[in-house]
Amino acid sequence: MNIKLNDNFDNVKESYLFSEIAKRVNKYSAEHPEAKIIRLGIGDCTLPLTKTVIDAMHKAVDEMGVKETFRGYPPEYGYDFLREAISKYYASNGVDVAADEIFVSDGAKSDCGNIVDILGDNTILIPDPVYPVYMDSNIMSGRKIELISGNQENGFLPMPNGLEVKPYVIYICSPNNPTGATYNKEQLGEWIAFAKKSGSLIIFDSAYEAFIKGDYPHSIYAVEGARECVIEICSFSKMAGFTGTRCSWTVFPKELEVNGKSVQKMWARRQATKFNGVPYVIQRAAEAALSPEGVKEAMANIDYYMSNGKLIGELLKEKGVWFSGGVCSPYIWLKCPNNMKSWDFFDMLLEKVQVVGTPGAGFGDEGEGYFRLTSFGSREATIEAIERLKTIL
Ligand code: PLP
Repeated sequence: MNIKLNDNFDNVKESYLFSEIAKRVNKYSAEHPEAKIIRLGIGDCTLPLTKTVIDAMHKAVDEMGVKETFRGYPPEYGYDFLREAISKYYASNGVDVAADEIFVSDGAKSDCGNIVDILGDNTILIPDPVYPVYMDSNIMSGRKIELISGNQENGFLPMPNGLEVKPYVIYICSPNNPTGATYNKEQLGEWIAFAKKSGSLIIFDSAYEAFIKGDYPHSIYAVEGARECVIEICSFSKMAGFTGTRCSWTVFPKELEVNGKSVQKMWARRQATKFNGVPYVIQRAAEAALSPEGVKEAMANIDYYMSNGKLIGELLKEKGVWFSGGVCSPYIWLKCPNNMKSWDFFDMLLEKVQVVGTPGAGFGDEGEGYFRLTSFGSREATIEAIERLKTIL
């Protein structure tokens, strides 16, 4: 063929972090078939969908089988019932977001990746370490990327001071994957002030907001001025165990404008052209997840995960290992003992105690020397992993 391909893909790292982990774990399993491996590396929910969600799905499935209630293509931006439910969810956190500013989607990952469609050739500012999708999707589009360092000194919460004042597209993930670090209201206020001063746009990923405990904003729109400079992306995945069910949303406030052009209208046009909406059954399930009973059940699951995180945190404290996270997020981010590199620590844990985690280096250069454990495992597996880790930390 003589067509031109998108050569920017040559600049994306070949191996995705989780395939490299799978490769190493599979090799170890093949060599040690008797080994009982515990996976504390997964960023995926393990508890089933809750009763309220399942009941709503069943009901919606039945509706699809009856002529009078059958639904065809869903609206591209989401059914009104779900957009209203999300708007009310914001209101329950004291935040005002109108239903028609909410665009329902099949995943925060899709929206994080697709947002580049409506943005021009800007300088992209990305924290390091962070969820790799921001970086890779911008590399695929040939964007110029600048990294801002998260490190132990700044609590893995990079701030804008010292940045050149020019327009950027800034990604912020809070609570952060992988570090669990969470910005408070003042810190988010500083980012908003910087965005306004520099004419920048913030893309705020709040996929883990439901895990927040304590005095941290669940939405950046709780901070004054955010409506003029922030797109917020959120998901049912971690909140309600929808990782396999697929539903999320993105907020485009009406105030977002560039030279009089509405960013919301551009996203609406993009979605209407390239996306045919989320299935009715799934949107009914998502609506149920935001009902009072649904939220109660989701919180019970989150508490279960967080208790695992607490146990891991207690072990690390006892062993004098530095870590962050585990309070507002399912992730525990620890410094590898004895200045080990991330992948060396990964190999050591696999070989000595058959516990699998995620090497911090996979989330950016600043993650080198760190390691991510998650609280998404079962209680039994987490306790057994802790017993094993005790012997080598
Ligand atoms: N954003 C962050 C920070 C994540 O960690 C993840 C998944 O791990 C996602 C987005 C993806 O969410 P979704 O399942 O809605 O695509």
